[in-house]
Amino acid sequence: MSDSVLVYRGESIAAYGFGDPHPFGTDRHDVFHAELDEAGLGDVIDYGHPRPALVDELALFHTADYIDKVSRMSAAGKGWLDAGDTPAVPGIYDAASSVVGAVLCAVDEVMRGHHKRAFIPIAGLHHAARASAAGFCVFNDCGIAIEYLRKRFGIERVAYVDIDAHHGDGVYYGFEDDPALLFPDLHEDGRFLYPGTGAAEETGTGRARGTKLNIPLAPGADDDDFREAWQKVEAYLVKMRPQFIIMQCGADSLEGDPITHLCWTEEAHAEAAASLCRLADEYCEGRIIGTGGGGYNRRNLARAWTRVVQSFAESH
Ligand SMILES: [Zn+2]
Repeated sequence: MSDSVLVYRGESIAAYGFGDPHPFGTDRHDVFHAELDEAGLGDVIDYGHPRPALVDELALFHTADYIDKVSRMSAAGKGWLDAGDTPAVPGIYDAASSVVGAVLCAVDEVMRGHHKRAFIPIAGLHHAARASAAGFCVFNDCGIAIEYLRKRFGIERVAYVDIDAHHGDGVYYGFEDDPALLFPDLHEDGRFLYPGTGAAEETGTGRARGTKLNIPLAPGADDDDFREAWQKVEAYLVKMRPQFIIMQCGADSLEGDPITHLCWTEEAHAEAAASLCRLADEYCEGRIIGTGGGGYNRRNLARAWTRVVQSFAESH
């Protein structure tokens, strides 16, 4: 096994975005990789190159009708995939499939024991639901990866840990009644930010009631507020004993993001990643992947994601 962190890059995932002036532009990949190059981590990083996901892999989470709709609208290249946040730009099907493919490649590499840690920058598209796009997210790579881990590798207890400023509603509602999906999510209180969900009372439904952890934070919450909430995430994961960790590292929880109101620094992302690596070593044979998630202030996303990769590298 390599001690290096496997980091994905390539034009096919860089292409995921919606053009100027949409906040989710296609420049985010290069901005991150430029910062990562500057950080001098070259001898602890291996680069992975993504493949597109197969339709059958997309269908592990999404409905056939929805996959078909994305394919048709991507070819037409106009209109909206949802009510007005996620435009059907030309080629978005291929770009979204490549993001999913990169995440599944990372899962394969980690499960085969080639690397313990992997990071995919333009992934973590956590708003997409099983039958619809939402909030800049076309295919829910994290939801697909959870189903893929179960079906391909027999991993039942996946922990999906989300520190993006927005609630991971696509994953939450995709597995709301599923007790095996561990779900701790720190986010800005839904009364102040899209998508409006993720109240503390939302702990799962049916036989999964009491198994999910939603922690809404007030606008303006800082690193101290993050640390206080993070203790609850750690205690939850120790109790639930995951077998694999997927971290959604959205950088829009940092101060200065143009569309959110949390005020963390990149220290929060570094500490969360280091903590999850310790938990992964304890319970998951070291297995963790990080996905970039949101983040619309370019400097913030470059720094926060680089600190996550650095924490992954230092944790070996
Ligand atoms: Zn976000």
